[in-house]
Amino acid sequence: MSVPRFWREIPQRYNLIGKKCTQCGQIYFPPRDVCPKCRRESIGKMEDYKLKGTAKIFTYTIIHIAPTEFVKQQPYIMAIVELDEGPRLTAQLVDIEPENVKIGIRVKAVFRKIKEDGSKGVIYYGYKFKPIS
Ligand SMILES: [Zn+2]
Repeated sequence: MSVPRFWREIPQRYNLIGKKCTQCGQIYFPPRDVCPKCRRESIGKMEDYKLKGTAKIFTYTIIHIAPTEFVKQQPYIMAIVELDEGPRLTAQLVDIEPENVKIGIRVKAVFRKIKEDGSKGVIYYGYKFKPIS
C-alpha cells in the first residue's frame, strides 16, 4: 500500500468508522459508498457509523514464517473477526498466545504499530484485536 493512500485512510482506521445503509440498516466496514444489497436505492443514504470495536474470532491462522517486515513479530496470529455490528475483517491478534486462541473468543480493537519501514523511517499504525479479559 502506498503511503498517501494509507494516510488518507487514517481517520477510518483510527476510529473504526464504517458506513450504515439507512435503507436496509446493514453496516459496512471498510466503508462503502453504495450498499451492495440496495444498490441504486442506497445512493445518498449511506451514513458514517462508529463501530464499537468489539468482536469475536470467526477464524484464525497462525503465521510461523512471516514476510521480512514482520519477522520480529513471528509467530503471529491473523484472524477474521466478526464485529458485533456484523462486518467481518482481517486483523492481527495481540496479547494472546497462539495456543490460547479459539474461535468465538471475544476481542476488542486496539490501535498498534503495524510495521516499520526501516529505510524510510515510516511507522505504520492500525487496528489489531486483543482478547477482552
Ligand atoms: Zn442497504
